[in-house]
Amino acid sequence: MPETFKAILVSRDAEKKQSVEIVDFGEADLMEGDVTVAVEATTVNYKDGLAITGKAPVIRRWPLVPGIDFAGTVLSSSHADWRKGDKVILNGWGVGETHFGAYAGRARVNGGWLVPLPDGISAHDAMAVGTAGYTAMLSVMALERHGILPDRGPVVVTGAAVGVGSVAVSILSSLGYHVIASTGRNAESSYLIDLGAAEVISREELSQPAKPLAKERWAGGIDAVGSHTLANVLSMTAYGGAVAACGLASGMDLPSSVAPFILRGVSLLGIDSVMAPKAVRLEAWRRIGSDLDLKKLAGLSTTIGFDGIITAAHDIVEGKIRGRMVVDM
Ligand code: NDP
Repeated sequence: MPETFKAILVSRDAEKKQSVEIVDFGEADLMEGDVTVAVEATTVNYKDGLAITGKAPVIRRWPLVPGIDFAGTVLSSSHADWRKGDKVILNGWGVGETHFGAYAGRARVNGGWLVPLPDGISAHDAMAVGTAGYTAMLSVMALERHGILPDRGPVVVTGAAVGVGSVAVSILSSLGYHVIASTGRNAESSYLIDLGAAEVISREELSQPAKPLAKERWAGGIDAVGSHTLANVLSMTAYGGAVAACGLASGMDLPSSVAPFILRGVSLLGIDSVMAPKAVRLEAWRRIGSDLDLKKLAGLSTTIGFDGIITAAHDIVEGKIRGRMVVDM
């Protein structure tokens, strides 16, 4: 009898009412692709929370197995780059949005989407980093390319207590930056200091409508929040600075003005992890292997099993989760 494995399947009815169930799948139920992977670890990202709760239209193919990232071992491959037994990571490329994703015992994907698991990193550790950590590294690399190095002055990280923000704080502090962490969870100050933040500020300081220009407070920043927060971060960025925008936790709008750009030469750097070219991904994962203190990951992440994914998805959308949520399958 063909082997079966558990999968989370999100469906919707004729009235577009969404439902989520755990089903038994076989390989024949998977979508097309040239590499089949045994999923060993995955994670619950904010985007996965939005997909499972239906709070935002992340899913664009019905029904769908959600889960935007995984690490695992190749079971079979007709792709030239991969052989049975290879350890791989996948982030993005529409997996968990338009292609069956990580929340199943197996995934069949396009081999061009995979990158090798860096030496010395386990599948669990790679997912403790996850898409959030990989996005944080893409943001750090963007700041570096723009010349925002530790000697330029402080950098601010918004949405710091969770996901992208927490890994960004950790990487930036390891690289020697003076990190100002902004969080809505004052109780997490000591956690952020342990991660390497030099200062912790309240989310409220940045959530009111922004002035076109405000007092210069930092050389740059990584913003996972969007809306008024990003507008404030821009208005407080010093002359010639840069801000990497990677998230929209507070909103997709940007109620700002051109003042920071045309009067202070500030740059806004867009970060997309989903369709990032392979060379950029390989460099980001190489840097994660070298610049992220993997020991800190243990403190950054909580481990759950497959059966905890749906609850965790609701919790992340309700802001009840701290750090990264790793799923050992
Ligand atoms: P998390 O939910 O883990 O983190 C978002 C954090 O933002 C929250 O924990 C909170 O931090 C802060 N936040 C939430 N709501 C508000 C609000 N109303 N006002 C201000 N701050 C708020 O999500 P992730 O870290 O996984 O992702 C962060 C963002 O980045 C998301 O919008 C996600 O969609 C996006 N993203 C983008 C990617 C890309 O390719 N560009 C890839 C991955 C994620 P705190 O409690 O510390 O204030």
